[in-house]
Amino acid sequence: MRRKLVVANRKMNGSVPGNKEFLEGLIKGTRDCHNADYIVCVPHPYLYQAQAMLADTEIAWGGQNMSRHDAGPYTGSVSPGMLVEFGCKYVIIGHSERRNRGQDSDNSVGERFQAATKAGLTPIFCMGETLEEYEKGLTDLVTIRQLNAVIQQVGIKNLAKCILAYEPVWAIGTGKAATPDHAQSILHFLRGYVILKDVEVGENIRILYGGSMNASNAAQLMSMPDIDGGLIGGASLVTEEFVRICRAANELGSA
Ligand code: PEP
Repeated sequence: MRRKLVVANRKMNGSVPGNKEFLEGLIKGTRDCHNADYIVCVPHPYLYQAQAMLADTEIAWGGQNMSRHDAGPYTGSVSPGMLVEFGCKYVIIGHSERRNRGQDSDNSVGERFQAATKAGLTPIFCMGETLEEYEKGLTDLVTIRQLNAVIQQVGIKNLAKCILAYEPVWAIGTGKAATPDHAQSILHFLRGYVILKDVEVGENIRILYGGSMNASNAAQLMSMPDIDGGLIGGASLVTEEFVRICRAANELGSA
């Protein structure tokens, strides 16, 4: 059975005192929650703080992006090895806030996926269509194109090394989450596509939904059969709200 998973994408938010308060609240609020997994992805400068505070807990931490290069003249970039040095086990790859600003292409997402797994990191690989693509009925086409770009580079067996996240761009930060039925239908389609290529990988890979998930809709979304958890942006900035989402995942995990 796939374990539920909740990932905080804190984006470019936080401060040393603010993170301390958030992480203390999260540790306290999930102390008795052993039926699901929790990951916090913070801006790179705060990885040291996350490591120091979370090292002895069941909560993991990760980066929000990384270079495909190991080292060299790449000003402003962070290598996979650097993330590993700060105890990261996870890294978000291909978030739409990078794809849609021209910072990531399908191809470069594949390259970074490979670099991440080579370093021992688990990519949290994001896919999703824009509002325009959604309105044109292109959701399946776009997500499969994004997924195939990675499968072609790494091979279907290596896809098992990642966590997939379907994040429709029109739902991110808009307060308009996909309905549980809609999100379920897309995740079911994506899982089915992977199953066609490799039954074991498809049945076991965890697929998250992301896009305006919050404490009020999380339980309903995460209780859908193909939704293994959530990638949470805005609602991860409010400690109590994020704790409630984690606790909802824990409840479902014990069901
Ligand atoms: C995200 O950016 O990954 C995300 C899901 O954001 P939000 O929850 O704010 O929609």
